Amino acid sequence: MDTDEITLSSPIEEKIAWAEHRYESFSGPLIQDKPIVDYLTRIEDAIQASHKEMGEAGILDICRDCEKNEGGSCCGAGLENKYDGWLLLINLLLDVRLPKKRHDKESCFFLGEGGCLLKARHVICVNYLCKKITDQIDPHKLNALREKEGIELDILFLLNERLKIVL
Ligand code: SF4
Ligand code: SF4
Repeated sequence: MDTDEITLSSPIEEKIAWAEHRYESFSGPLIQDKPIVDYLTRIEDAIQASHKEMGEAGILDICRDCEKNEGGSCCGAGLENKYDGWLLLINLLLDVRLPKKRHDKESCFFLGEGGCLLKARHVICVNYLCKKITDQIDPHKLNALREKEGIELDILFLLNERLKIVL
């Protein structure tokens, strides 16, 4: 396979191979680029801040219960196709190990036993809140979460753009 030729409609395995090939060939120069290093640090912090906010709002408890008792339902098969190679490359730069195969045929390629395997997620995944959550969580807490997620997505955009310039 020519790893230089992928599109958004390429199979996820090909996108992963593309990202891994880029990572193996270029991670050295990439992590010597100061803006990239800054964005990677800032996005780790922003992802942690969003996660903390989700925990404090009670969303993680609701999701845990939903996954255990109702099988979850929001990370369905096919959602992985929203991801492009660049976002997967960002995950590799954040020390994520991308899966080789799907854990559950009904679910997204990136859903592992303990939840999503990715750190940098697509805007659709970051923004998604099901009715179970919006009905139960105080809107002020949801607004606080939206603010944190906005920061996460802004940095992700800047990092994505910077990678395209440097590579
Ligand atoms: S977002 Fe909604 S559907 Fe998905 S795991 Fe959480 S509670 Fe369940
Ligand atoms: S949150 Fe993760 S597992 Fe769920 S749909 Fe998005 S990428 Fe897939």
